[in-house]
Amino acid sequence: MERKTARAADRPQTVVHVGPVRIGHDLFPVIAGPCAVESEAQMMAAAEAVAGLGASLLRGGAYKQPGSPYGFRGMGIEGVEVLAEAGRHVDLPTVTQVLEPRQAEAVAEHVDMIEIGSGSMQDYELLRVAGRLGRPVVLRRGPSATIDEWLWAAEYLLAEETDQVVLVERGIRTFGGSGSDTLDINAVPTVKELTHLPVLVDPSHASGGAARVMPLALAAQGVGADGLIVEVHPEPAAARSDGPLQLDPDGFSALMDALGVNRMRRAVDMLDREVVRLLARRLELALAIGRVKSARGMPVRAPIREAELLAVIREEADIQGIDPDHVEELFELVLAHSRRLQHQERTKGETST
Ligand code: MN
Repeated sequence: MERKTARAADRPQTVVHVGPVRIGHDLFPVIAGPCAVESEAQMMAAAEAVAGLGASLLRGGAYKQPGSPYGFRGMGIEGVEVLAEAGRHVDLPTVTQVLEPRQAEAVAEHVDMIEIGSGSMQDYELLRVAGRLGRPVVLRRGPSATIDEWLWAAEYLLAEETDQVVLVERGIRTFGGSGSDTLDINAVPTVKELTHLPVLVDPSHASGGAARVMPLALAAQGVGADGLIVEVHPEPAAARSDGPLQLDPDGFSALMDALGVNRMRRAVDMLDREVVRLLARRLELALAIGRVKSARGMPVRAPIREAELLAVIREEADIQGIDPDHVEELFELVLAHSRRLQHQERTKGETST
């Protein structure tokens, strides 16, 4: 069988598409939601809170595997449906965990992304099935897994029909530690050296308490993680699982502010608007020139002028420290559009006279 290999750092970064979200490309996407889907009201409240604060994906557990057999096992497929409904309501793509191969297809019909939990990282049959669902997959590192074992688990997914795989560091078993596990922050840059797959960090499960989620999340951002998975509950004290670890909406709001993601996204939006305004002005001028050329019987296309213009923008790209080829590619599109509109104006003018 062809080897797809997760271990090829020289390959370009894999971008994982989940609806409109591009993990590995977008500015620090945050996946958020409660540890477990507990009811429609709870899931809806969580969804509205995280969507309003800038989360990119909605997450909630429907199939749970608590450390104790007496813990909450989740709402099952009904919980998946509740999650999907909440996602539609707030217009966010959804992700949830599957525990058994036989659940996978039914779950994949409802959600946009499939999660493999840390306890299932080396469940190879589950990985084979998950890799064939046609959905992107989040693969959590097992608490006792080496990085090598983690990447081999990813390889099981890649060996099926997908390269849409995201890795999640969520804490490993050490001695000491303030939670049950220790967040292996060093794993993030290490794995990014070894693989082209995006790497997220879950700062919740190793934190040992919600108050430590923010510093761990900032550490994750600092070491170059591609985003976060964080647990948020409308009322953590009433949560049926991981209560002490989950942020309440105020805590999530403070986290998103501290990450600065929303602020940066707004700045990008403003720049994009400015770019569009400049393009509109450029087009207006080009059309005015086109009318003059038309009146003088000159052709629309002026190759010498175009070459001169491209030389100018390449020079500016060099000064700004961005790739001149990339900028030229963009301008080819702008010029092509401008020429098309000039032609349209001319043919309109000819038919009306
Ligand atoms: Mn949890």
